[in-house]
Amino acid sequence: MVFEGLANRLQDTFNRLRGKGKLGESDVKEAMREVRLALLEADVNFKVVKDFVEKVRERAVGQEVLQSLTPGQHVIKIVNEELTALMGGEQAKLAVTKPPTVIMMVGLQGAGKTTHVGKLARLLQKERKKPLLVAGDIYRPAAIKQLQVLGEQLDAEVFSLGDQVSPVEIAKQALHHATIHGHDYVLIDTAGRLHIDEQLMDELQRVKSEVNPDEILLVVDAMTGQDAVNVAQSFHSQLAVTGAILTKLDGDTRGGAALSIRAVTGIPIKYAGIGEKIDAIEPFHPDRMASRILG
Ligand code: GDP
Repeated sequence: MVFEGLANRLQDTFNRLRGKGKLGESDVKEAMREVRLALLEADVNFKVVKDFVEKVRERAVGQEVLQSLTPGQHVIKIVNEELTALMGGEQAKLAVTKPPTVIMMVGLQGAGKTTHVGKLARLLQKERKKPLLVAGDIYRPAAIKQLQVLGEQLDAEVFSLGDQVSPVEIAKQALHHATIHGHDYVLIDTAGRLHIDEQLMDELQRVKSEVNPDEILLVVDAMTGQDAVNVAQSFHSQLAVTGAILTKLDGDTRGGAALSIRAVTGIPIKYAGIGEKIDAIEPFHPDRMASRILG
């Protein structure tokens, strides 16, 4: 599970801090050196690590901490707060709009877009909302079928026009359909490529200008670490995405992407994918994530 490696790596450091009755600047310095190394090993962006450690150090050597009765606990609390801030602070929620709320899912092939259209639909159904799943990935042969299977499993409607109609037209007609039939959400699956290319971006931009989505959610694979951050930056610069779904956190013990994406790109992480099953999704809570690292 995510941060397991980081938590194990830092366990001794935090235990030592917790046990300290008195804390000097050198203790803080030593602990920060450990935190810095651990974050770098976890594949967190270099600049993010540097700024983070500096911030914690500044706060941790303040008089309030060094004179407190449990200075070690105090430092851990600061680390917790700063990790939470690094991942966005407050939980980032979906936009609330007049129905239907239009959500476009974008990302590279294999990141988990289609799967997460299903997972998100399931979460929305739990809130008694009626989602429409839109089969807009017409290039990957199995994508339409995959979405239809998910739709059946969820008893949710899937909108498809096959693979001969352009994704722009599909999105447009889906929105019309959702408006007429009282859907609360339109979840548009889109095509991904193995690498970012102009053609992909161009098509996504055209879908965007056609349906003017309320959310563009970038689906990124957490296991790809700093590559996920680079991918996020490219998509963001071309599409102005409104949030990220970080997938495969169940297989990512390091957590480099989770800790870097928000700080590097400014994109709020809205959901975490934590398995292959349809209910393996959770809203991303920066504070709970930070607590996992602290053990
Ligand atoms: P797409 O090409 O972006 O639409 O990707 P898919 O939705 O087809 O997902 C690609 C693969 O990743 C599938 O085998 C999914 O089961 C798997 N997958 C998606 N999300 C997760 C996740 O959160 N955890 C794990 N372990 N696997 C996932």
